[in-house]
Amino acid sequence: MNYRRLSDPNAEYTMRDLSAETMGVTNSRGPRDVEITDVQTTIVEGNYPWTLVRVYTDAGVVGNGESYWGAGEPEIIERMAPFIKGENPLDIDRIYEHLVQKMSGEGSISGKVISAISGIELALHDIAGKLLDVPAYQLLGGKYRDEMRIYCDCHTEDEANPDACADEAERVVEELGYDALKFDLDVPSGFEKDRANRHLRKPEIDHKVEIVEKVTERVGDRADAAFDCHWSFSAGSAHRLARALEPYDVWWLEDPIPPENHDVQREVTRSTATPITVGENVYRTHGQRRLLEEQAVDIIAPDVPKIGGMRQTRKIADLADLYYVPVAMHNVSSPIATMASVHVGAAIPNSLAVEYHSYELGWWEDLVEEPIIEDGYAEVPERPGLGVTLDFDAVEEHMAEGETLFDEA
Ligand SMILES: [Mg+2]
Repeated sequence: MNYRRLSDPNAEYTMRDLSAETMGVTNSRGPRDVEITDVQTTIVEGNYPWTLVRVYTDAGVVGNGESYWGAGEPEIIERMAPFIKGENPLDIDRIYEHLVQKMSGEGSISGKVISAISGIELALHDIAGKLLDVPAYQLLGGKYRDEMRIYCDCHTEDEANPDACADEAERVVEELGYDALKFDLDVPSGFEKDRANRHLRKPEIDHKVEIVEKVTERVGDRADAAFDCHWSFSAGSAHRLARALEPYDVWWLEDPIPPENHDVQREVTRSTATPITVGENVYRTHGQRRLLEEQAVDIIAPDVPKIGGMRQTRKIADLADLYYVPVAMHNVSSPIATMASVHVGAAIPNSLAVEYHSYELGWWEDLVEEPIIEDGYAEVPERPGLGVTLDFDAVEEHMAEGETLFDEA
């Protein structure tokens, strides 16, 4: 038997290098006869500054991706361009690992660099789907469902008023057609004595319970209702709040404590029957591993374009499934990354829902030519790749100041 040598052990390089050249990976036949030629970004000023990413190839196929919003993403992506030019866009996993390795000096095990890599990784799924003429969910193993449940993140002008929250819940269920909602629970109650110590006084807990009571009683069986705390409270306060909410059987209580200490997270989660959700600020499979292995969460909430991309989320979902934990994908992105989450959600058994965070914007769906959300669900597209087409006029109209529009092709 002939063994093909995959890499030259004598090749000169300064660190572990997973580029096609060093690995001896070839692009010789069929759809593999393609190379990445360029990557560009444009920031669209939505309710967040969305970093849209386009990866170009010499086959004339262009992939759309998106990095989680925030400063620095375009610069990091520009810095990575030389590492992906000439690579085969079908080698998604290796390119991801290659970029993590190449960007190690810039902190690539978490944070902004991983989000930037995620933006490219989403675009590679779009390209690969288009080259192979399959929807992106097919690249992740096929689908469990034809449509993905979408939950609506809700806001009111009077966010600390429990009746105003209940009214908005009613409107979102009846007028917008959602059967799944989320409200912020870290809103000011007026009873705070100190904003830094994370402690919840009894009247603050009572105020939060009133919001939950009014919202859940108003929607009844028509919708599931989750509540987000944005890492605000002490361990003891989180425990008291979660216990106080038990009679209301909320969909979940999200991020009641800061995201770093998984030991505390485990104790808070195990101390209550209220389902606890964590995950949008925990990066890659490595970051989420202990949360799952130690059964420190009831529902895991990775953000696809933030924490590592579609394949990392698939891997996290697989790990979660070993512990019988469902996945509710955090999402505050444009239609591009939202559809990436929909494809991941279609391909994993344990997906609960994907978040939608832009209902107040009014033009979210204008960014793409296809309809995305109808009556609280997103149809899983059968079109190749992510299955959405950027509307360049809409992108240009909503581009952030000082941005230049990326090339169409
Ligand atoms: Mg959240």
